[in-house]
Parts: sequence; C-alpha cells; structure tokens
Amino acid sequence: MTSIIYPASNLKSQPNLVIEKGDGVYVFDNKGKKYLEAMSGLWCTSLGYNNQELIDAASQQLSKLSYSHMFGGKTHQVGIDLAEKISDMVPTKDAKVFFGNSGSDANDTNIKLLRYYFNAIGKPQKYKIIARERSYHGVTVASASLTGLPVNHTNFDLPFSALGILRTDAPHYYHGSREGETEVEFVDRITANLEQLIIDEGPDTIAAFIAEPVTGASGVIVPPRGYYEKVQEILAKYNILFWADEVITGFGRLGKDFGCNAMGIQSPDILTFAKQLSSGYIPISASVISGEMYAPIIESSEKVGVFGHGYTYSGHPVGCAVALKTLEIYQRDNVFAHANEIGQYMQNQLQTLNGHSIVGEVRGKGLIAAVELVASSTPAQTADVVAFAMRAGQELGMITRAVAGTSLAFCPPLIITKYEIDEMLFILKSALDKTLQYAQ
Ligand code: PLP
Repeated sequence: MTSIIYPASNLKSQPNLVIEKGDGVYVFDNKGKKYLEAMSGLWCTSLGYNNQELIDAASQQLSKLSYSHMFGGKTHQVGIDLAEKISDMVPTKDAKVFFGNSGSDANDTNIKLLRYYFNAIGKPQKYKIIARERSYHGVTVASASLTGLPVNHTNFDLPFSALGILRTDAPHYYHGSREGETEVEFVDRITANLEQLIIDEGPDTIAAFIAEPVTGASGVIVPPRGYYEKVQEILAKYNILFWADEVITGFGRLGKDFGCNAMGIQSPDILTFAKQLSSGYIPISASVISGEMYAPIIESSEKVGVFGHGYTYSGHPVGCAVALKTLEIYQRDNVFAHANEIGQYMQNQLQTLNGHSIVGEVRGKGLIAAVELVASSTPAQTADVVAFAMRAGQELGMITRAVAGTSLAFCPPLIITKYEIDEMLFILKSALDKTLQYAQ
C-alpha cells in the first residue's frame, strides 16, 4: 500500500502498472514492456510522448521565467500571445480567454462567468444550466454537479442543488431509442423533451445548455445527424446560451479544429478547453466566452473594484509556453488534417469488429471511438467482461480504458500512423477473442 489516494480507482485494489517513460505513441513500464497508448493517457497527449519541441518550450520558459501571475495588473507576453492565438482559432466571436489548470476548474469558471454575466445585465434569476444524462464535465463540486454519471455523485452528496443543474436526455440512439424508433424520431423526441423542460422551468431562469460535442468518459456518444441543429434552434428560441465543453474534442480530436465545427454547432457562446491545449505536457485550461458576454462583466467588475476570481496558476508561464508551442505545431504540421484522414481509417477498421459476437456497437468520430461489449445480461457482469477485455489488451501491449461500464474507449495520439492503427486493431481483436472465451 502506498500513501496515495488514487483518483478514479477502486481504493481496495492495488495499482497494476507502473509507467516509467514514453516515446511517440508508446509508453513503457518499469520492466521495460512496451504498450501502444491507445487512450493518449486520459484523452490528452495529442502529440505523443517525448516531443522535443514541447520539452524545449517548457525548459526554456522555466529558465526565463518559471512563475509569474496575472492578478491585479500583472501579465506576461507568452500568456498574451496564447490568448490571442486561442481567440483567433475558436469559432466564437471576439473570444475572451480565462486561464486555469484543469477541465474541471475551467468549467467552474464558466459557471461563475455565466452568473457574473447575468447578474451584470440585471437577470440574476437566469442561472440554471441544462446538462445531459451521461455527460462528463469534471469532478470539482460544481463541475461534478454538471456531470451526469452516478458514480461521480454517489457518496459525495452531489449534484449540489443550489447550482440549479437541470438534466436532459443523452443523445445516444443505441441505448436511448425505443423499439422501432428511427434516428429522426429519436432526435425529435429528445429535443421535444428539452423544449418541454425549458417551458416547465421557465426560459427566463435558464442561462445555458452545456454539451460535449462528442462525449468521452460517458462512452463516446456521437449524437445522430440533426441533433445539434434542433437543439440550437430551441435554445435560440428561448434565449439560452450554448456552452461547448471541448475539453476532449478541442484541437483536432474529431478530425476538425474543434468539435463544434465537426458536429455542426454554430457559434457557441462559451467553450471549455484543457487536455490537448498543451498535449497533456503540463496542466493548463481555458474558459472562453464571447466578447458580447465579456462587455457587461467588465462594467460590473469596475463597480465592485475587482473581478474576484483567479487561481495562483492562472496563466502559468510554463503552461502558456507549452500550449503556444502545441498550437503552433498543430498548425504547422497540419495535425488536424492528419487526424481527419487517419481517423477515418481507424473508424473503418473498427467497424470490421461489428460482426464479432461480443461486440454490440462500434461508434466514434475522428480519432475517438468506443467498442461496446454485449457479453452478459447484468450491468455488473458486463462491467466485469469489459474490465477483462481491458486487461487482456494490456497484457498484449495496448492501453485502453473501460468507459460507462460497457465499452472500451480509443483515443490515440493525433500523430498516430496507419501502421500503428493496424497494430492497435490486431491487439484489440486478439483481446476480444480472449474475452469471448472468458465470457462464455
Ligand atoms: N470536461 C470533459 C469533457 C472531460 O472529458 C474532462 C475530463 O476528462 C473534464 C471536463 C475534466 O477535466 P479535468 O480532469 O482536467 O479536470
């Protein structure tokens, strides 16, 4: 037993893998065994491991200025440059950027920015947020309240009711549709439910609707065609803002620059980024709002005397330097176009698993996917089978992740090659064959 309280783990079980180093799309354990990192760590190491340019960006910034903050009138050039770059790239008008350290705290910041904004324009009652079932937005008290997974609420007395989080359907046709219902009918039904929720609660009490363009931790749910179009129509009708949590989908994961652009989401008012913003080399996140939202916030903060929100490490110069270099590499090396091309190849290859007797659904977009297993009748048995498949993959030299108790997730670095995708598929097929024997 070590002294660590392990995150997102069964605290009774012992860790079974000591990772020691990484290179490209591979990591190595303390016995020298090599693994294809098919999850980019936790959906983050987009440029793979041991990228010398990112290492240099960090070490040069550490030598030059290892720390400085942005409170009360201080700033630094690398932070200014990063904010400009993000603002230029994102699909939000005149975007303004607040830096944090993680996806969770960036979502907390966005909740606070929403409240500050609606208070500033004289609508304090407009504070509720619609989040979806089976969504993942983090684990701080506020972001876990947005999250729609019971495991992140149980024993933590969450969601925190004062936050006014409302819940609407997950757009997962495979699990959520009724017998005989087409995709179009499914979208019509769940968006009608959304509209009814808004009417029942009162549109004037609802600030925003939050969505991951494609979900990650909740099982890689890719909404059916037309879903976001309908959702945005309804939100516009009732003056409710659209908030895209792009912590996983931001910066190329779905084969386009942003998940919003890949999924037909127009001009989101609010965005959240982390993970691939720095290729996971160093913690940094960004909460982004439109210039239109920012203007009244400025006025209001002047009345108070200070905008009373900020972290010690907001805009940490080393994080900013690494993120800036990451974004430069994405653009210089056309990483998003590569992710699109290789992502289509990965999706096609994964689809070949559809005939496998243990596979229920293969879904994904770009370089993110899930393979849902259907071996058993009870959720506990299925979770056990999925955990077995994950371990079998690990034994064969591939790291994946069990998500939502039913699926294996895949989210390899964006720089992965066709050859490495073939290797991933080869290992996965062998792991599924072993799993079938186990489940029978
Ligand atoms: N939002 C989304 C969509 C995520 O996938 C995650 C983490 O996986 C978070 C927020 C929380 O980010 P973090 O773990 O950096 O707090």
